[in-house]
Amino acid sequence: MAEVLVLVDHVDGAPKKVTYELLTLARSLGTPSAVVLGKGASAAAEKVAAYGAEKVYVCEAEELDAFLVAPKAAVLAQLIADVAPAAVLVPSNAEGKEVAARAAVKTGGGIITDAVGVTPEFIAEQPIFGGSVAVQSKVATGVPIITVRANSTAPVEQAGAGTVQEVTATFSASDTMAKVVDRVVEQKGGRPALGDAAVVVSGGRGVGAAEGFGIVETLADSLGAAVGASRAATDAGWYPHQNQVGQTGQTVSPQLYIAVGISGAIQHRAGMQTSKTIVAINKDAEAPIFELADYGLVGDLFTVVPQLTEEIGKRKG
Ligand SMILES: Cc1cc2nc3c(=O)[nH]c(=O)nc-3n(C[C@H](O)[C@H](O)[C@H](O)COP(=O)(O)OP(=O)(O)OC[C@H]3O[C@@H](n4cnc5c(N)ncnc54)[C@H](O)[C@@H]3O)c2cc1C
Repeated sequence: MAEVLVLVDHVDGAPKKVTYELLTLARSLGTPSAVVLGKGASAAAEKVAAYGAEKVYVCEAEELDAFLVAPKAAVLAQLIADVAPAAVLVPSNAEGKEVAARAAVKTGGGIITDAVGVTPEFIAEQPIFGGSVAVQSKVATGVPIITVRANSTAPVEQAGAGTVQEVTATFSASDTMAKVVDRVVEQKGGRPALGDAAVVVSGGRGVGAAEGFGIVETLADSLGAAVGASRAATDAGWYPHQNQVGQTGQTVSPQLYIAVGISGAIQHRAGMQTSKTIVAINKDAEAPIFELADYGLVGDLFTVVPQLTEEIGKRKG
């Protein structure tokens, strides 16, 4: 079976969960090979092998971290030319999409972004028009490069050979035009990142004030979830803008999405409607979010949410 390259999303050699999801997906499409680029890349080899990577292409060239994404696209394009894989899977985050697009231009192949599934025939499913329509697309020219959203596949361990192959990269002047001048480590609490969390609890205008997010956070913590917010809540300054879910915020696709005091405007839905299970808590039984919800709770969130958190606590023992 032809190789399917998976671009590894990692920090200093520690792969993020989406990498394991993509390797699991790649196993259904061909022989998975991981591509690990940048500082600490070789440290990822054993970890990606545990999810089926037969080969691990490693490149730790300094340029990969010293400059913005262009050198990564150059190495990926070089590998596509050398290996002639059946497809390339890339995490559908901001950096992944830019690397994928640049690599597609360099290789002359087609690209599909924001897929939530890929069949063995390389037909990708994508939600479009703010998630209101699902389309099936297939790349018609060259090696397909497909960016896949986090949480589209459940990661399943399966040992692969994990044979490491060092890649020697050559960069052109155009690959090194945008230099990284500083890096600031994002201050994070103990919660998972919104983009790849398996469970997301979001609050909206219904929480009433910044303090209202307290019960949303407590519910999230009882489930090990990330916290999201509607734009009404972030615009009001109740929660940080980077936690906004929706058309002009982040797109999430968790196993479970709990919308607390959110009406379900089309722009909010655009960022969460591919979630596997949606629970809505709203005091208005006519709120549009209920059209989308798998489970709806009609009631005052200040009564319902603490009860829900308490019940979860009891069941966890
Ligand atoms: C170009 C554009 C882009 C946009 N992008 C985004 C985006 O990315 N993300 C986004 O979210 N929005 C976005 N919006 C805004 C969007 O249209 C809505 O205005 C917004 O999503 C509404 O947020 P909300 O549901 O929190 O507030 P509301 O629509 O005001 O809904 C609040 C809900 O809380 C319920 N509620 C109130 N009190 C309680 C209570 N005590 N208990 C239970 N329920 C209660 C109410 O019944 C109501 O349904 C965008 C708009 C535009 C024009």
